[in-house]
Amino acid sequence: MEIEFYGATRRVTGSCHVLRANGFTVLLDCGLVQGSRDDEALNREPFPFEPSEIDAVVLSHGHIDHSGRLPLLVNRGFRGPIYTHHGTIELCEILLRDSAMLSEHDARFMRKHGQRAAEALYTVEEAQRCVRQMEGIRYGERREILPGIAVTLRDAGHILASAFVKLEITEGDVTRTLVFSGDLVQFDSPILNDPDVIGNADVVLVESTYGDRLHKDFDSTVAEIGEIIKTSCRECGNILIPAFSIGRSQELLYLLGEHYDEWELEKWQVFLDSPMAIEASRIYWHHEELWDEEARLFRRNLRKMQPIGNLHLTGKIEESMKINDLHQGAIIIAGSGMCNGGRIIHHLKRNIERPECHILIGGFQAAGTLGRELVEGRKEVRLHGRSYRVRAQLHTIGGLSAHGDRADLLRWLKSREGSPQVMIVHGEDAAKESFKWFLHNELAIDPLIPQPGDRLDLATNELRLASTE
Ligand SMILES: [Zn+2]
Repeated sequence: MEIEFYGATRRVTGSCHVLRANGFTVLLDCGLVQGSRDDEALNREPFPFEPSEIDAVVLSHGHIDHSGRLPLLVNRGFRGPIYTHHGTIELCEILLRDSAMLSEHDARFMRKHGQRAAEALYTVEEAQRCVRQMEGIRYGERREILPGIAVTLRDAGHILASAFVKLEITEGDVTRTLVFSGDLVQFDSPILNDPDVIGNADVVLVESTYGDRLHKDFDSTVAEIGEIIKTSCRECGNILIPAFSIGRSQELLYLLGEHYDEWELEKWQVFLDSPMAIEASRIYWHHEELWDEEARLFRRNLRKMQPIGNLHLTGKIEESMKINDLHQGAIIIAGSGMCNGGRIIHHLKRNIERPECHILIGGFQAAGTLGRELVEGRKEVRLHGRSYRVRAQLHTIGGLSAHGDRADLLRWLKSREGSPQVMIVHGEDAAKESFKWFLHNELAIDPLIPQPGDRLDLATNELRLASTE
């Protein structure tokens, strides 16, 4: 029995690992690489394994960097079940459809401009076929997916229905427990629960997106957002918030509702300008059973509050275009979260050169994305092929990330029982190295950072390096 590491071992996106045990092959996640055009070209490469030989997939959560290559896997011959939480299936319906639509759109654009790779990665129909292969599991339900391989999903709190995965693997008289973190949320975030405890484990794969830093604490982050809104000159400009459609957008709506009076939001027009975020918000709304205690209580008291009359859900393109006429008084939440496409680009074009406008960036910004350029303080950026001076006021809201920071990851790892081998995945190189030293000092353990193609023998915890074979 062994696990082989592929995607997200050198970067944050493109999560994918392969478990082999009892003669079966199980894939953990199958995500898209996101970032620059060169990075994203990797998605078209052949898989480093034969898709038809995969027996099952276990999917931690719906985010496209964990699920986005699944339709491609199906196209290339995978016919088995994809096990994931019921809520993730609902989110994947919209996420994978959107991913297919974006890819079809890009392909049309490239064909028009005579560029290569003019085929879409996959079509909407292909994305839908992939979703039909998904089978729902609830948190805490132990499911034997193949002889000798049992899966339990536990709440990761990262987005709705997100899970970390516990796999109990039995080969002969040896049973080993492998825990795969997926993506983990910050503790005490709104709406969803904190990550569940790890419990016993022999091997833990832990993400490290923010393994090298600490977020601002959540309360001061919320206070900071409030300050920006309250002190912004409503008569002068707009506030743009690039947001991931699933997770961040719902948290922002929640915070705006919670602080509606305090932040004097009745003076603003709030736009959720993303069809996907609107659909995802509805799915969040229908799954109250997955919320934390505080959010449920808040919902029960909603009737006592004033309705948010100035919240506009602009799903249609013509509704979105009308926002362009507003030069002031608008708070616009739009995708994509890393500003590498989507409606936020149109809003940036109209507002980025205006010093009276504000841009609030929260969440991880991958290298090569426009969001990263903005966070790094670029004075000039390109939008739809044209240069724009960055004159709007930029605010980096670190405390609103859907990923836990170093302290959150440590807290989660402390909930382990036994002495599992910790493997650091899903992070940029510097974050992983820094997190490795931190864990060594804090927990007196020796985590490993696997490279693509490295394999860990689960019976002995011995790592076989791809470079030596
Ligand atoms: Zn995620």
